[in-house]
Amino acid sequence: MSDCCAMEEQVSESSGSEFCPTCIAKGKKIKIITLKSMLKPAALDTLNAELTHYFCSSKDCHVVYFDTDTKTYLTSDIKVAVHQKDQSLVVPVCYCFDWTKEKIKQYVERGLTPNPVEHIRENIKENRCGCEVNNPQGSCCLGNVTKFMNQLL
Ligand SMILES: [Zn+2]
Repeated sequence: MSDCCAMEEQVSESSGSEFCPTCIAKGKKIKIITLKSMLKPAALDTLNAELTHYFCSSKDCHVVYFDTDTKTYLTSDIKVAVHQKDQSLVVPVCYCFDWTKEKIKQYVERGLTPNPVEHIRENIKENRCGCEVNNPQGSCCLGNVTKFMNQLL
C-alpha cells in the first residue's frame, strides 16, 4: 500500500480484453484490493478474484470495473461516487484527504491555504495516502487534482 502514489506507469498487457465491454475504451489495469475495498457487499459476493480487473474512466459509461471475462461492475455497485463519472461538486477528486471539487474550487478561487496540490503532496510525503483502497481508480489522485485546478484557471 505504500507505493500507491509512486506514479509508476502501468505496463498494459495485450490480453485482448482490456477494453470496456460497454464503451470499448481501453481500461486501466487495477489491483484486486481496490475492488475488494470499493464494491458493495452484494457485488463483492460475485467477484472472481482470480481474474484481471480493469477500471473504465469514460465519463459517460456506467461501467466502473470489468474483468477478463467481461463481467462488469457499475457505478451503482460501488460504495463511493466515481470522480470521472459524476459531475457533482460534492464528489471527491482526492479521496484520501477529502478534496471535493467544491472545496478545491473554493480554495483556488479565494486563494486560501493550503493549496490543494501542496496539501496532498505533503501528505504523500508523510506516507499517509491510501489510494489503492480509497480512490476508485486505485491510483494517485494528483493528476486529477491538477487537471481540475487547471480547468478553473
Ligand atoms: Zn466503459
